[in-house]
Amino acid sequence: MVSLKHLKTFIIKLIHFLFPNYCQSCDKLLSQHDKNCFCNKCWDSIKLIKEDFCIKCGKPVITAEGICNKCKKRRFYYKQIRVVGVYEEILKNAIHLYKYFFRWKIAKDFTELIEKNIDKKYITNNDYIIPVPVTHKDLMKKGFYHTFLVTKMISQKYHLPVIRNLVVKIKQTRPQASLKRKDRLTNLENAFRINKKYKNKILNKKILLFDDVYTTGSTIQEISKELSQCKVKNINVLAIARGR
Ligand SMILES: [Zn+2]
Ligand SMILES: [Zn+2]
Repeated sequence: MVSLKHLKTFIIKLIHFLFPNYCQSCDKLLSQHDKNCFCNKCWDSIKLIKEDFCIKCGKPVITAEGICNKCKKRRFYYKQIRVVGVYEEILKNAIHLYKYFFRWKIAKDFTELIEKNIDKKYITNNDYIIPVPVTHKDLMKKGFYHTFLVTKMISQKYHLPVIRNLVVKIKQTRPQASLKRKDRLTNLENAFRINKKYKNKILNKKILLFDDVYTTGSTIQEISKELSQCKVKNINVLAIARGR
């Protein structure tokens, strides 16, 4: 008699045979042991930010106090940030496929990457995890809430409650990196609002804010500013990637 385990293996093999999937980087035919869209070998070449980095912007630099020179001059509404890897090659490609080409299964690989490379306590030492929000218009255009999907997976893995709509994005903004300094200041102004119904719930709590890519840091700064006005205890940030 065929056992359930054998049947499951057979079905997985059949699916892989019927719908072959190739590594988006080296074209190797992917097996069930590889990642979604990438083979393990390519995935393992992701440049991680592991030891020396700035605790405010995640930049991989060696600093005496843990803060880079640029961040020393700024005021922050969040406590610290951890970024998993450098936004280039495989990781950049993976984020693009995930966000713009509906390869939503990569969310699982991102979650595993976080689990493998970020200190567990950095995640569990919070009361809630929340995603960087998108506008309703973006959601309709993209078809899925990309930051929330990963947030939900992290929430399940670490038993950390997620609040999907604690922060709401109410204004359509342009990418900060594409703007002139003058426009950057007004672009994110009043773009986010805290959902009033959670105000008591988050009072004096630690919030872990998740974003996919850290670029200028203005988005997380603006959200943290709004949250800090609600008297949360502190805000920690987690992102998948950032530039060098
Ligand atoms: Zn490959
Ligand atoms: Zn910095």
